[in-house]
Amino acid sequence: EKIFNGFSKTRSNLAVVDELLLYWNLADTDRVLDELEEALLVSDFGPKISIKIVDSLRGDILAGKLKSGNEIKEALKGSILNLLKRKGGKAELQLGFRKPAVIMVVGVNGGGKTTSLGKLAWRLKNEGAKVLMAAGDTFRAAASEQLEVWAERTDSEIVVAEGDTVKAPSVLSQAVKRAKEEGYDIVLCDTSGRLHTNYSLMEELVACKNAIAKVVTGAPNEILLVLDGTTGLNMLPQAREFNEVVGVTGLILTKLDGSARGGCVVSVVDELGIPVKFVGFGERVDDLQPFDAVAFVNAIFS
Ligand code: GDP
Repeated sequence: EKIFNGFSKTRSNLAVVDELLLYWNLADTDRVLDELEEALLVSDFGPKISIKIVDSLRGDILAGKLKSGNEIKEALKGSILNLLKRKGGKAELQLGFRKPAVIMVVGVNGGGKTTSLGKLAWRLKNEGAKVLMAAGDTFRAAASEQLEVWAERTDSEIVVAEGDTVKAPSVLSQAVKRAKEEGYDIVLCDTSGRLHTNYSLMEELVACKNAIAKVVTGAPNEILLVLDGTTGLNMLPQAREFNEVVGVTGLILTKLDGSARGGCVVSVVDELGIPVKFVGFGERVDDLQPFDAVAFVNAIFS
């Protein structure tokens, strides 16, 4: 229900697909497919995916494989689902066998990193894990306080920088050491999100990653990139850059309770070949859910 509500804007943009396909006949194929492509573009699927999908539908129609509007719509949904599943790979968290497992969240300021980390703590604790949070956004003073509020809300322990000069890699390394000594299952590491064009941020993230790896071999197990679902295709360049520099293992799409732009989910997965692991629907502890590609496709088409 939440995913359905979250994508209401995309659904209304794509509602035209039903009308188009209701009156489809073979002679009308070019016009209908042009309009279908336009509807996909308006819904932020981006030119590459929109053209790919429409060309493949055209091929199947001309080959006589799709004979009715309904079959075309099912093929359209099927191609989006296939793309999400094939390119997305495994959507569950891959936490390995060593303890502690370490999850780092990265992304630009305001995307929802700290909030998602809080919600993730709640989720993992409910699954029985012993969770330690680490306030790695040492750049923005309020970020540690915000994470402390989430630690309290989810009854989690937290490591924060002691003193203004302590840098993020050292906070995270200290947290992972403590987790190792005290038998925590998972460490959730927040990071800074200054403008993604600021290279020193990227250097810092790499230093954070290396500092964690020095304490536990193979860690961080997951580097989750948090993307604001309302920003549409604008998320692509930043996603690409974070991925190139730190190697992202999964995506968290936030703010799907607002006016999320559904098509960009498909674009970003196709472009990076990285699965969406979680979606965020709001600011409550339980507003983070594993991504379900089938529910997503059903939510964007009425
Ligand atoms: P950060 O700078 O990336 O750590 O982002 P924050 O976690 O501080 O989130 C920025 C703002 O977005 C805050 O006001 C959050 O409450 C809000 N926010 C985060 N996730 C969601 C979400 O899924 N839905 C809504 N509506 N707001 C969210």
